[in-house]
Amino acid sequence: MNTKRRTCTWENWALQHISGGALMQQGFIRSYQFQKIQETYSWVFRNSSFYKKKYKDSECPSVLNNWQDFRDLPLITDDDIRKRGMEMVCVSQSQISRVVSLDTSGTTGLPKRLFFTEEDQELTLDFFHHGMKELAGPKDRVMILLPGGQRGGLADLLKKGVERIPAQSFVYGLVEETEECVNEICRNQITVVVGIPVQVQAVAAWCGDKKIKVPVKRVLLSTDVLSDTVRHQIEEGLSCEVFNHYGMTELGYGGALECGEHQGMHIRENDLYVETVEPASGKSLPEGSLGELVITTLNRKGMPLIRYRTGDMGRILPGRCPCGGILKRLDGTIRRIGDRAAWNK
Ligand SMILES: [Zn+2]
Repeated sequence: MNTKRRTCTWENWALQHISGGALMQQGFIRSYQFQKIQETYSWVFRNSSFYKKKYKDSECPSVLNNWQDFRDLPLITDDDIRKRGMEMVCVSQSQISRVVSLDTSGTTGLPKRLFFTEEDQELTLDFFHHGMKELAGPKDRVMILLPGGQRGGLADLLKKGVERIPAQSFVYGLVEETEECVNEICRNQITVVVGIPVQVQAVAAWCGDKKIKVPVKRVLLSTDVLSDTVRHQIEEGLSCEVFNHYGMTELGYGGALECGEHQGMHIRENDLYVETVEPASGKSLPEGSLGELVITTLNRKGMPLIRYRTGDMGRILPGRCPCGGILKRLDGTIRRIGDRAAWNK
C-alpha cells in the first residue's frame, strides 16, 4: 500500500490533448479551454434551438469575446435537460449512438435523457483507458462492480478502456450477494476493483469480519460521495490503496480522478471546464471557495452542456498537487446540494 507514483500518467494524457506534448503552464490550459468554449458556444448557437433561444432571450452576444462574456451566460439546470433535452441535441438522430435515461425524480417527473455520438463516447473511453492506467498495468485483473454492462453502458465503456491498457477486465455488475462477490474476486484473482463506495465497503467489511485475504491491491470508487470513514474502512478491510473519482453521466461519466498522492482529484480539463457558483444567486465564486460545481463540456458534439449546474457542492483546491501535476484539482469531499446543511456546521 501507499506506493508513490511520481507522475500522474493520465494527467500527461490530458496535457497531451491540450498542447500536443509541449511544456505548459496553467495559462496555456485556460487559453485552450476558452478556445474550446468559444467553439462549443458557436456550435450550440448554430445547431440547438434550446441554446439559441435561451441566449437570445438573455441578450447574450453571438460570439464570446472574453471570460466575462462566458460568466455572464445563464446557467442551465437539471430541469432544462428533463424538459428540453431534445432541443439541446446538435446533431441528427442518426448521429446519436447512445441515449442514457436517468431517474425520473425531480420536480417534473420526467426522465433525464443524455445523448451521445460515437465520438462523444470515444472521449469517455479514452479517458477511462488513460485514467485506469493510474491503477492498473498489464498484469492486473480488474473487476467492475458497476451497472451498464450492455454495449456503450458505463461498465462496458470502462471494460473497453481497461482492455486498451491492456489489462484483463470483468464486468460483475452491482453487488447483490456480498459473499458471492468476494468468491468471484478470489476465484478470478482480481487485483483492482472499481465500484460504488457503499458496495465496496460491504465487501471490505465481509473480508474483515471473515478474515478473508483477497488479492485486491487498488480500488477505484465512483458514482457516489466518499467519506473518510468509508475510505478508511475499505483500505483496512481489503489492505488496499483507494482512489476516488468524481463523475456523472452528464460529464460523459468521467470528471476528476485522484493521483497516487491522494490529495484531491485532478480535473479532466482537456474535456471539461469546471467552475463554482454561489448556489442561491448563481454568482461565480473565486477558486478555493465552496460552491455548486458548474461544468461546461469542451469537446462534445451530440448534446454539449454549457454552464450546467451539477447539484453538487464542491471546491476547487488552490495550489498544485505534490505529484507536480498542473491540472486543477477538486476537493474529494463532494456533497449533493441536498446535504448543504452538513457544510454549514
Ligand atoms: Zn496529483
